Amino acid sequence: MNAALQRLLELARLDEEILELARAIEQKPEFLRLEGLKMDRQRQSAAALVEARKHVLKEDDLLELQVKGNAQRAGELAGKQNTVKTNEEYQALSREIASLKSTNSVLEDRILEGMTRADELAAQVRTEEARRKELEAHLARVQGELERQIASHREELQRREAARAEFVRGIAPDHLARYERVFEKTRGVVVVPVIDYVCQGCHIEVTPQVVNLLMGDEEIVYCRHCNRILYLAK
Ligand SMILES: [Zn+2]
Repeated sequence: MNAALQRLLELARLDEEILELARAIEQKPEFLRLEGLKMDRQRQSAAALVEARKHVLKEDDLLELQVKGNAQRAGELAGKQNTVKTNEEYQALSREIASLKSTNSVLEDRILEGMTRADELAAQVRTEEARRKELEAHLARVQGELERQIASHREELQRREAARAEFVRGIAPDHLARYERVFEKTRGVVVVPVIDYVCQGCHIEVTPQVVNLLMGDEEIVYCRHCNRILYLAK
């Protein structure tokens, strides 16, 4: 492989590393955004449980009021029984009192069910809270680690870019200009092998003449379709 081609190949490897570092830096904020969304969902589900528990307790309060009202009414009716004149009136009041008592027994069962449900919800809230704290701690650790990684990637990127600036001085300006044009367009590898007469950049067949030029190894050979710089794969 001639020296000019060797240098261009090396430049392509440098650029690949630079692109990879830049990509790694870009991906990190997206990762943190997704972790943040997970956190939000966790907060929302905990908040929904807290609300559900409040609702159950409020219902129970209303039922308690009804029970109290019924009990008071039953007490009044019992007092009235002492003043009635006829047996029919007495019986009617007894039936009304019995009905109020049976209603209250149903309501009291519902109140108990509500209390059980509220206890269950309280336990779930505690579980969700514990999970949220765990997630928060995990996220803080991940964030710290990522920030350290990004900082080290940035430093590495700066070093590589400086190395590249130094390196391209050794490349003929016309070769470099052509390289840069293709690089801008592809944002990827500019120097590619030819395998079985096929350019590995655009996957289109090259002519035997191109292969002959590559075998001669005296000049830089470009793919006529994608303009990438070609070399013969060993
Ligand atoms: Zn090509």
